[in-house]
Amino acid sequence: MTDDTILKTDSLVKTFGGLTAVDQLSFSVTEGEVAGLIGPNGAGKSTTFDLITGFHKPTSGSVSLKGKDITGGKPYKIATSGIGRTFQDTKPFGKLSVFENMLVPQTPDVSGDDKIERANAIINKLDLNGVADENGEDLSGGQKKLLELARVLMLDPDLLLLDEPSAGVNPALMDDILDHIKALNREGHTILVIEHDMTVIAELCDTVVVMSNGDAIAEGPFKEIQQDERVRNAYLGT
Ligand code: ADP
Ligand code: MG
Repeated sequence: MTDDTILKTDSLVKTFGGLTAVDQLSFSVTEGEVAGLIGPNGAGKSTTFDLITGFHKPTSGSVSLKGKDITGGKPYKIATSGIGRTFQDTKPFGKLSVFENMLVPQTPDVSGDDKIERANAIINKLDLNGVADENGEDLSGGQKKLLELARVLMLDPDLLLLDEPSAGVNPALMDDILDHIKALNREGHTILVIEHDMTVIAELCDTVVVMSNGDAIAEGPFKEIQQDERVRNAYLGT
């Protein structure tokens, strides 16, 4: 681990009954980068996010944020200590407007008018102005992804974990989402993204971690990873 490591997992394990979803997983993310987490369906990627963000307690192993042990912490505690997270299946509050959805997260550092101002600034930044008064359930797949990202930004996380931002998004809006992710990275958010679409990975990521059967089988720049024989066998199918 170097000084600019923001996130590190060490021998992380999660079992569900007889199934080992995450198996001795160790990897790290460097501050300032966009890192990709890739691997076949069922490799354990989303479960890894659940372990990092406190939605599941690891069976064993540890997670640290900027050198501080956060293993098994409560989701709200982890969210307010600098890790924001979106879900593979977006779930905005359907009967609340986009604007009202933005006020749902408990923000320890702002309240009242300041919170409203922050919500509006993020809505602006992500180009959601046009739908600010629409209900969550009436948004398109891509707009729901953007709203989820917007909501997560209310806590101004140092590290953003994005679970399949392209899933269910039409290609036109996908380019916008990619641009927003890149802009957020330039503004200082470190990003770890789970993604199936390799063109998205190639365009966004400085480095990638490849998972197979719960463990990391390769880690490095995408161009190098593509040449790795184990990766090609396990995943790329070429
Ligand atoms: P990925 O996101 O890489 O597609 P997941 O992390 O969702 O994979 O799942 C990894 C494995 O763990 C799969 O076999 C999945 O069925 C299993 N799994 C995930 N969550 C649970 C759960 N809550 N209970 C039981 N099994 C689970
Ligand atoms: Mg998943």
